Amino acid sequence: MTDRLLHLVDRARRGVALDAELDQLAAGITEQAARITTLEHVAAGNKRHVQLIVPELDQLTTRAEKAERAVDHLTDRHRGAEARIDELEQQLAEADAETTEVLEHNDATCEAVAARDQAEAAIERVRELHPRWDADPASCAHCHDSYGTPLRYPCPTITILDGQQSVTGEFDGS
Ligand SMILES: [Zn+2]
Repeated sequence: MTDRLLHLVDRARRGVALDAELDQLAAGITEQAARITTLEHVAAGNKRHVQLIVPELDQLTTRAEKAERAVDHLTDRHRGAEARIDELEQQLAEADAETTEVLEHNDATCEAVAARDQAEAAIERVRELHPRWDADPASCAHCHDSYGTPLRYPCPTITILDGQQSVTGEFDGS
């Protein structure tokens, strides 16, 4: 289009252009002017569009910045929560270990109490076997010497039992 118009202008300069060619030149200029007007409208429309978009872009930028700060905040909280979870897991493990220890201790205590009860029952049965003799309260009902003479109460068995208690008492008192 432009080449064709420049060719017509050249011919006009040299004074050889026909009337029809001058008409074509005029029509071409008119057409170019119309295209320029159209392009100006398009440019104006684009400018308006950009002017509308800029505030939106500003808003979106602000929102993106806010979102970024929120993400940072949540990341911090997440890290804090993870640290707290680690701490609680550690405490839980310690509590588990303590519970196991207490249960083991408890078992040991139960066994000791059962053993003590058995020992006390055995001592009681021995005492019941060596009461004062009804016929002679100064003698043991069970023990006698090789001549069949009852031994004096408390007999050696009861003395040993009492002696153990008395020895314990001495240690307690010192
Ligand atoms: Zn006896």
